[in-house]
Amino acid sequence: MSAVVPVQKDASQRRQKAMLARHFTRLAEAPETGDKCVYTFVPGNLTELLLSFDLLPVLPEINALQSSLHGRAREYIGLAEKLGHSEDVCAYVKSDIGMMKSGNVGPTGQRLPNPDLLLLSYTGCFTFLKWFELLREEYDCPIAMLHVPYQGEGRITEAMRDYVVTQLRHKVIPALERISGRPYDEARLQACLALSARAEDDLVWVLESAKHVPSPIDAYFGGVYYIGPIFTAFRGTREAVDYYHELREEVAERIGLGLGPVTPDGEMDAERYRVVLEGPPNWSNFRQFWRMFTDEGAVVVASTYTKVGGVYDTGFRHDPSRPLETLADYCMGCYTNLGLPSRIAMLERYVRDYRADGFLINSVKSCNSFAAGQLHILREVEQRVGRPGGFIESDLIDPRYFSASNIKNRLESYFQMIEQKRHGGGTA
Ligand code: SF4
Repeated sequence: MSAVVPVQKDASQRRQKAMLARHFTRLAEAPETGDKCVYTFVPGNLTELLLSFDLLPVLPEINALQSSLHGRAREYIGLAEKLGHSEDVCAYVKSDIGMMKSGNVGPTGQRLPNPDLLLLSYTGCFTFLKWFELLREEYDCPIAMLHVPYQGEGRITEAMRDYVVTQLRHKVIPALERISGRPYDEARLQACLALSARAEDDLVWVLESAKHVPSPIDAYFGGVYYIGPIFTAFRGTREAVDYYHELREEVAERIGLGLGPVTPDGEMDAERYRVVLEGPPNWSNFRQFWRMFTDEGAVVVASTYTKVGGVYDTGFRHDPSRPLETLADYCMGCYTNLGLPSRIAMLERYVRDYRADGFLINSVKSCNSFAAGQLHILREVEQRVGRPGGFIESDLIDPRYFSASNIKNRLESYFQMIEQKRHGGGTA
C-alpha cells in the first residue's frame, strides 16, 4: 500500500510518480470539476466498480503513510491524541484525523476533497469500522458498508460469495448510483476488470522474479512501491497495465544482467541472505530500516504485506465474465481476511519456494490485524521449515516506536543465527 519512490528512479518509477501526481491533482480539482469522491480502504477495495461510475477513490491509509514519509505524521498523531484519541489507537487513524484537522492537505501539498461517500469494505479489521464512524461525524456524508465474511475455514464457500454479491447488488451499487447520478454499467465494469487481470499477471511475474538467485528485486522494500498502483486508484486502468508492463521489462533486464535489487543507495552489493518478511513496514524510518538489511546483504524475497490489497500469486485474477462474483472473491481473499492457518501456510510456502534462509516478523504496534497471533506464526513456521525465524518490533508510522539500535541489534543477531545454521551450528 504505498507510493514510496526510491532515490534512484527507473522509467517505471517516474511513470508511477506522474500517475499519482495526476490523481491527486484531479482530487484537488474535484470541487470545481464536480467529480465525486469516495473514501475507501485498501484491503477489499472496489476500485474497478468505482471507476465504472467515474468516481475517484481516496485512500486514507495511503494518505497516512504518505504523511509519515513526508515527516508530518508525528504532528498529526500528536494533534489527534490531544483531541482525545488514545495512544493505543492505530496510528493511521490518528494521522488521518490530525491531517483532516489541519486542513486535509494531502501528500502532494494539495487539498483533498471531502468525501461524497464513505465506502467501507470490512475485511478483517474492526478499526476500519471505527475509523469511518469518526469520519462520518466529521463530514456528515453517507456511508455504505460491504460486510466481507472472514475466511475462518481457509476457503470461500458459495454462501459467502452470494452474501457479498447480494450486498454489492442491493446496497453498494445503489449507493454509487445515487452519488454519481448514473446507472450501473456492467459492460464498463467488465472492461475495467479485464485490465485488472492484465496488470495482475505482470505484478505476479515481478514478485515471483525473486525466486531467481540473486533476486533482481527486494520484494518488501521495493515491493511496497510495486504494489502502489494496483492497491490504490489504478487497478482496472490502462495506466496500470502500462506501468506493470514497463516494470516487468525492467526486472527482466535485471535478471538478464544478473543484477540484484536497486536500493535508495544504488545497486545492492552481493546477496548474502534471502529472507521472507511478515508484517507491514515501518514508514517513519523507511530508508533507515531498509538500509539495515542492505548493509548486511539481506534481500527480502517474499512478503505477506505485498498481499494486503490482494493475493494473486495463488492464481486469483479479476474475472470479467463474472463481475460481481469476482469482486466478492477478491475482497474475501485479501491477506487481512485470512485466518492464521492460511497465513502460516503462505509463509511456509514462501520460505521453501523462494529458497529463503529464514523469515522475519516485523510486529507493528498499531495493527492488531497483523500482530494478533504473530508469535504463534513464528513458532509454527520455524517448526515446519526448520529455518530460523526472527522477531522485531516497530510501528507503521508512529516514530515513538522505532528504536534503531534495538532493531539493528536484533537483525544482526538474526543474521548471525543464519550463519551458524549454515555452518552446522546453533538451532533455529
Ligand atoms: S489496525 Fe491495521 S489493518 Fe486496521 S486500519 Fe490500522 S493498519 Fe489498517
